Amino acid sequence: MPGSLRIGKIAGIDIAFHVSWLIIAVLLSWSLATGWFAVRYPGWSVTAYWSVSVLATLLLFLSVFLHELAHALVARARGLQVKSITLFIFGGVSNIEQEPPAPGIEFQMALVGPLTSLGLSGLAWLLVLAIGHNGSPLSATFEYLAIANFLLGVFNLIPGFPLDGGRVLHSIIWKIRGNVRSATRVATGVGQFIAYFFIFMGLWIFFRGFVLDGLWIGFIGWFLLSGATAANARSMLEGMFKGVHVNDVMNHNPATVPANISLQKLVDDFLLPYGWRSAFVLQGDLLAGLIALSDIRHVPREQWAQTPVGFVMVPLTRLHTVNATQNLNDVLTLMVGRNLNQLPVVSEGHLLGSISRENIMRFVEIRRSLGLDQASAP
Ligand SMILES: [Zn+2]
Repeated sequence: MPGSLRIGKIAGIDIAFHVSWLIIAVLLSWSLATGWFAVRYPGWSVTAYWSVSVLATLLLFLSVFLHELAHALVARARGLQVKSITLFIFGGVSNIEQEPPAPGIEFQMALVGPLTSLGLSGLAWLLVLAIGHNGSPLSATFEYLAIANFLLGVFNLIPGFPLDGGRVLHSIIWKIRGNVRSATRVATGVGQFIAYFFIFMGLWIFFRGFVLDGLWIGFIGWFLLSGATAANARSMLEGMFKGVHVNDVMNHNPATVPANISLQKLVDDFLLPYGWRSAFVLQGDLLAGLIALSDIRHVPREQWAQTPVGFVMVPLTRLHTVNATQNLNDVLTLMVGRNLNQLPVVSEGHLLGSISRENIMRFVEIRRSLGLDQASAP
């Protein structure tokens, strides 16, 4: 995700946070120091308000992280690949590359997050009780964490996509009906209903004069609505691509050049005459890499005549490849997840073709023009 900073790796999962979190952290510390703690615990020094607020913000950050890590670890334990966790404004996203293969797995993956938050809330309460509920900065910090984690757990249990509660609902309907797409339709429908409820409640509160509260609730509604709509669109696409393989959509004659020609020849004989922006590089009849305009731009022009394409290309080891029998849904997930535009279709080292976002778009366009997308719906 652009704008995210990597901070480390836990159990093979990259951990990053989005810069938006810094802004939220500052806003949250500020509102805790001047609002929450100042109102509830009068009489502390300014230093005490600010240090408690910064500590509470960092511990909340940790709590959100543990919530997200719980999702990721359960997903991994059930055999799904988890690349990274990115923490941002509302919490976090785990970059889980596949959809859960069975309702039971989705149920566990989704539920463990809110359960972790509720567990952390309980733990914080125990600490408050152990310290003594005495209004000291430490007890106040844990009291805040108990409340915040409780709200986090409950909010995430709201049964609206893309919240965890929405996924729990989705898995239950999936289990009952035995059909994942119909479960998605029902769950996103419920999600949209809840989203509109939040939006109208936000408007109502707004016009009663509570401008900020109204905006905030309306914003949550908008966030839920966009999530539900995206999940629904994704499910429709998945339905459209069901049973469609790379071979049905790929370009069978992708642009290729030999590895031993010079960059000058590549530009003069291939890129300029044909208007290509990139080409696959072949060594003999095997795929060796990919060369794009951006790779050539790094090389000074006076060296073009002496530099072979093979020296500058992105080698095969750094390319993602797919095979012709792969399902289009998997390929699309790979393209979107890694932000790739074009993938080589390979069989035992030989280049069979290429598949790009344009190929897929054209496929969707043609199906739509022929009215076939309607026919494929159950
Ligand atoms: Zn969650």
